[in-house]
Parts: sequence; C-alpha cells; structure tokens
Amino acid sequence: MSRVFLDYNATTPVHPAVLEEMLPYLREVFGNPSSIHWFGQEARQAVDRARQQVADLIGAEPSEIVFTSGGTEAINHAIRGAVEKNAGNSRQIITSPIEHQAVLNTCDYLEGEGFHVTHLPVDEYGAVNPGSAADAITDDTILITIMLANNEVGTIQPVREIAGTARERGILVHTDAVQAVGKIPVDVQQLGVDLLSLSGHKIYGPKGIGALYVRRGVKVAPLIYGGHHERRQRAGTENVPAIVGLGKACELAREELDRSAVRLAALRDRLEKGIRSQIPHVQLNGHPENRLPNTLNVNFSFVEGESLLMNLDLLGIAVSAGSACASGTSEPSHVLTAMGIGPEQSQGSIRFSLGRGTTEKDVDATVKALTEIVGRLREMSPLAADSNSGNQPSGE
Ligand code: PLP
Repeated sequence: MSRVFLDYNATTPVHPAVLEEMLPYLREVFGNPSSIHWFGQEARQAVDRARQQVADLIGAEPSEIVFTSGGTEAINHAIRGAVEKNAGNSRQIITSPIEHQAVLNTCDYLEGEGFHVTHLPVDEYGAVNPGSAADAITDDTILITIMLANNEVGTIQPVREIAGTARERGILVHTDAVQAVGKIPVDVQQLGVDLLSLSGHKIYGPKGIGALYVRRGVKVAPLIYGGHHERRQRAGTENVPAIVGLGKACELAREELDRSAVRLAALRDRLEKGIRSQIPHVQLNGHPENRLPNTLNVNFSFVEGESLLMNLDLLGIAVSAGSACASGTSEPSHVLTAMGIGPEQSQGSIRFSLGRGTTEKDVDATVKALTEIVGRLREMSPLAADSNSGNQPSGE
C-alpha cells in the first residue's frame, strides 16, 4: 500500500542530508566536546558549528543558544528558569489557553509552587489580542509565554506586539516557536522576545534535540545541574550527533524556507478547496490567512474525528485528530474549546499537516478518500440523517 503522511506537525522524517551529516558522529567522531585533546576538539568544533547554524536561522548569536533534549525541555527551562531567577516578590505568569502541554503543565506546576497564571482569551480563530495581554500585565508580572504558531490550527500569534508592550514594562517574554521555526520566518530581533524554544524533529532533524534561545543579558536558572556544559546552563555531555543533525536541519530550513512555504501553501489550499468542493458541511478551524502554510484543520459535521482518522489510516493516510499528544484521549481539543468551538464540532475535526514529501497526488488521493469515508460515516449517523445532509457539495 502506498502511504500518505499528512501529520508533519506531529513529527518529520530526518532529511537525508541531515542523516549524512550525523553519521560520522555516530561512527568515528566520538570525542567528548569537553576534552581538550584532538578528539574532544573535533567534537567541540562540530557543536560550535551547529550552534552557529541554529543561531543563523533565528537571527541570534551562537552564545545565545543552549542545546536541550527537545522542545519540551527548552520550554521547561525557559519558563521555570526565568521565573526562578527573576521572580523576586512577583508572582504572575501570563500565557494563553491554546499553548502546548509543555507550557500549560509547566505553568500548572508553578501554580502549585505559589505563582498565579493568567490565561489570556483567544478569539474564534485562536488568536490572542495584544491589547488583552497589555491589560493583563500588572506590577506582579514576571513572564509572558505565548506560542508563535499553534500546532493544531496553525494560527500565528501577535508575539511581536505582545513583546513590545512587555519589554517596555520590563517583563520577560518567551515564545514556544516549535511549530513556527522552519515554516515561517522567525527572527528573535524582530520578535523582540527574550526566550524562544525550538525542536529538531519538527524540522527534519532528529528527535530528542532542541534549543533554547536566551537573549544576552537575560538570566535563566538551569533545569539540570552537573558539569559546566553549555555555559553552565545545561549540564550533561552534549548529544553531539543530534546537535550536528539539528544544526544541519536549521541550515536546510533557512535555505528552503521561502520555496517550501509557497509550495506547501499551494498544496494546503488545494486540499482545502478539494474538501470544500466535494464534501458539504465542513468548517475551517483557525485563521483563514494568518496561519502556518502547511496546516489545515477542518471540522466535518456529523462525523467522529477518531473514526475518520482510523478509516483514513486503513487506506494508508495519516492525519491527526487534535494534537498528537492529546490523541488516545476522547477529550475535545483544549485549543478548539478555547476558540469557542463546542464538543461536537471539536470531535469531528481533523488536522492535516503537510511537509517536504507531500505531493499533489497525495492531496488528491486524500480528498477522494475523505469524500468516500465522510459519506459512508454520515450515512450511519442519525444526526446527519436529521439534517438531511446527503453528500452533495454545498459550496460551503
Ligand atoms: N510545542 C509545540 C507547539 C509542539 O507542537 C510540540 C510538539 O508537539 C512541543 C512544544 C514539544 O516539542 P518536543 O516534542 O521536541 O518535546
């Protein structure tokens, strides 16, 4: 069976050039970058080169990059580290309800430690209003953490505007840019953030590697104590092959960004158009324009998203219902709920996320499969019968 992978927001395959770059560091180049002999220095140079490549992708200095074990660790480090080092008597953290669990659960943990967390509302597209962020700031605010792009619906947040206000008030700003990096231009100077998290496996790098950008002069407590690695910000012998892979992935992302964004947006639009022309009663979740070029989240009324996902999987098509981390639970997506979408519409929603390997043929095969499966599932659905929906295009 030929398979179609439309779940690139969950993870991406390692780019062949990334693998090539990593292989010597899994085979012959095995030195410890902390060693001062030749073997160590060879590894050190590779880590330094990767640090430069990561920095170049986001407009940072290499000395502002800390390698971590992934996006989740970078986020924990940013939030807990910033709060621990800078809170003083302040107690408020501002975030949004549509963040990834890595942010939400870190904030929950800090709430248990005596901090209070303000969740800014989002509009029907899943966007935070910069005005509401400004209004939420008090003398008690330490940190604002707002994601740059949402993993489920792709909506891009006004992080630059939020950071502008926050910095005038001396408040630190972190952005979870795990889904944005490699898909849209990300520049820490333009954004004006103090801290930014990214992850290797979302950008055709290996899993288990990520990075945290820490603006020069910003103090963040370490999460992991031990040796003097990563300028004492993250102890532990560096994962050299993965770091090399992340560096190469960042270099490729920088080279391919413009072309890939145009190509993916065209394919995403073809998918959306195909769905709308073939299947009635569908609604887009997320912002129609201000969203990631590769992401399409659609509600199919009268259908269970999980059934749709499993039926597509039987035909070799991989999509996601809600975020990958949330699947396996039947809870409606916290992102869609925060956008004011009711449980029924939420349960019938599917995320399609496109990537390097996606072709027009994949898109057309997906539209065809969806048309057939949605039609079949609706035939069995009493709700669909009540609405007399049929399966004729409505042009909705
Ligand atoms: N933040 C967002 C928006 C994500 O989509 C993910 C992964 O799904 C993460 C953070 C966590 O990154 P990692 O899988 O590298 O820990």
